[in-house]
Amino acid sequence: MSARILDGQALAGRLREEITPQVAEFARRHGRPPGLAIVLVGQNAASEIYVRNKLKAGRDVGFRPDLERLPETASLADLLALVARLNGSAVHDGILVQSPLPKGLGGDAASRVFDAIAPEKDVDGFTPGNVGRLVQGRPTLVPCTPLGIIELLTREGIPVAGRRACIIGRSEIVGKPMALLLLQRDATVTICHSKTPDLAAVCREADILVAATGRAGLVTKAFVKPGATVVDVGMNTITDLAVAMQWFPEGHPRLARFHERGSMLVGDVHPDVADVAGALTPVPGGVGPLTIAMLMMNTLRAARARAAT
Ligand code: NDP
Repeated sequence: MSARILDGQALAGRLREEITPQVAEFARRHGRPPGLAIVLVGQNAASEIYVRNKLKAGRDVGFRPDLERLPETASLADLLALVARLNGSAVHDGILVQSPLPKGLGGDAASRVFDAIAPEKDVDGFTPGNVGRLVQGRPTLVPCTPLGIIELLTREGIPVAGRRACIIGRSEIVGKPMALLLLQRDATVTICHSKTPDLAAVCREADILVAATGRAGLVTKAFVKPGATVVDVGMNTITDLAVAMQWFPEGHPRLARFHERGSMLVGDVHPDVADVAGALTPVPGGVGPLTIAMLMMNTLRAARARAAT
């Protein structure tokens, strides 16, 4: 058996096509496009790429996407002042502060920033009020990655109600909100983490397995019940040829690209899992593009809610 590949890239394209006329309609009615402010502090190569992709996606659907940069030397007070300005901005409906923040801002910088963002502009769904609303099952802005996964499962016709779901990872941005969204849809949910004993055996119970650990290839065939749906959230860069060869055989196009570039992006799920799973998201081209599509959805939603008040 070879798993059906769940094409997140293609779905993200369809979502973009759906959202673009809605953005144009918003702009026509309100005399301005939805505005998304992305705050980038300091220098981080990966963040530069993520932010560039988000800005481009925003432009493509017709938003006003603004990049607000602060230098590596900026203080937490500078960052909080910027957030306060954006909270008060009439033209910005969404505020996203790109993670990770520079270490120099202090260990509690991220939570201080999330505490400061106006909940109605919190398009990442990270503020404590919005997290609380999600826990209580009330309407709110929901973190983009788990929201994109739910959209994918729904549109691919993968049933959730009554199924066993297992999530590896308990982060605030992926694991926990993923568990809540699946629970709300009547799955029986197990959350695993680095201290979970017999991880493979626990995962093998799942009809839907979501891997969000940042550990390349952690999920092997031994973790997967035959026919299960496997969602790979992980984004890991491999730079060692010996490791790359454990992923793809000589002659595989992915390995040929590794030889050209010296690196490749892989998930938490080993490709051999396709022999056992019923459906599988690829990396790249699975969950990543959906995360950005959901950021667009959340920004439009925030803009509509603000315009209605
Ligand atoms: P975190 O580092 O915040 O959390 C990782 C989680 O995985 C933790 O709960 C940790 O357990 C658990 N974990 C780590 N190692 C193991 C292990 N060996 N066995 C079981 N559990 C383990 O990561 P994030 O949630 O932020 O991100 C996870 C991955 O998803 C990363 O690769 C990230 O790059 C990617 N990502 C991708 C996105 C996308 O759009 N595609 C968006 C967001 C993230 P413990 O709590 O015990 O430490």
